[in-house]
Amino acid sequence: MRRISVFGATGSIGESTFDLLMRQGGPEAYHTVALTGGRNVARLAAMARALRAEVAVTAYDDCLPALRAALAGSGIAVAAGEAALIEAADRPADWIMSAIVGAAGLAPGFHALRHGTTLALANKESLVTAGPLLMAEAAKHGARILPVDSEHSAVFQALVGEDIAEVERIIITASGGAFRDWPMERLARASVAEASSHPNWDMGQRITIDSASMFNKALEVIETREYFGIAPEKIEVLVHPESLVHALVGFADGALMAHLGAPDMRHAIGYALNWPRRDPLPVARLDLAAIGALSFRAPDPARYPALRLAYEVMALGGTAGAAFNAAKEAALDGFIAGEIGFLQMAAVVEAVLAEMSSRQGLGNGALSLDNVMQTDAEARALARVVMGQQRTVA
Ligand code: NAD
Ligand code: MG
Repeated sequence: MRRISVFGATGSIGESTFDLLMRQGGPEAYHTVALTGGRNVARLAAMARALRAEVAVTAYDDCLPALRAALAGSGIAVAAGEAALIEAADRPADWIMSAIVGAAGLAPGFHALRHGTTLALANKESLVTAGPLLMAEAAKHGARILPVDSEHSAVFQALVGEDIAEVERIIITASGGAFRDWPMERLARASVAEASSHPNWDMGQRITIDSASMFNKALEVIETREYFGIAPEKIEVLVHPESLVHALVGFADGALMAHLGAPDMRHAIGYALNWPRRDPLPVARLDLAAIGALSFRAPDPARYPALRLAYEVMALGGTAGAAFNAAKEAALDGFIAGEIGFLQMAAVVEAVLAEMSSRQGLGNGALSLDNVMQTDAEARALARVVMGQQRTVA
């Protein structure tokens, strides 16, 4: 039986993964090693019982008593905290879903690769902060990383049987998020609730707000570079409000291979779960005649400064990705807490990048897990200082 684990099981990607696992036979078809979650211990416990997991892990120590109570008598082990997440990643498994949100998802996935485990990677932050490290670790241990982000799964599928050397460009699409049709002057006053509702995709709150600001696409541009090893100038972003074409790959002969599908993450998750087979998935089939037309437009650079920053980060290299992601996470925390406005997020990230690259040269030095973590901590601290200054000015 295939041994599987799901990190971030209680999140949006985690729930979709659980749904597919249960539809594909649940505990009769899979041996579930570990399931992890955060504060929603009741849901984590229910999933662990349904899949008869070996261990359920909450990220938070103070949630352990509740998790233990919820799993009493089940024979399922419980644990809590960062070290327990690593311990869970070190348990032998054949396939691991990495679906924790944020840089916290890096360490468990990194550990799993050391055991040659196939890593289904939804946590894009892993590649943004430590892409070269992750790819090298996978190569060293003969482990596979399968993309779960919809755009990257689409590119991966378009590349089956192709030679990456013949790829001229990769185009990833963006819906434009919640505010794509808002006038610019209204954006400054956009609320957290308004930014948390996506026109096409049902996702966790953080990635939904990142979609409205295009920080999500900025992370995905870097993810594309790290995953496919393609030069930054060959990566394009195209606004496509319908979210039906997920990505296109352009080849040397001018051909463009597009991937279309309903905006349902179970498509990308299922592809990574069943790969290299294509098993039936419970996703809606597109009726293109009913849809009638698809539209595309170039992203407006004034509206989406995050995209420009992504290319600057790629030019810097080194730990710039870690600084970028951490500053973005801190700015997002600030926006959610009501400390800064929607448009200030990009300003905070830009200020942090400028300060850190003039201070220590972000692109320099060998990349290691330690300096990624250290850069992450520095960028978060600096972002909080910048946000404090911005509040004082305002
Ligand atoms: P989510 O917020 O819905 O769920 C996050 C999960 O991680 C939860 O189980 C939560 O308990 C856990 N978690 C949160 N903080 C943690 C921490 N510090 N330590 C350990 N666990 C923690 O997020 P999501 O929308 O499912 O996204 C998960 C990842 O997948 C993100 O990296 C996101 O960018 C990526 N992704 C999501 C979608 C989507 O449709 N939701 C699409 C593409 C990529
Ligand atoms: Mg995506």
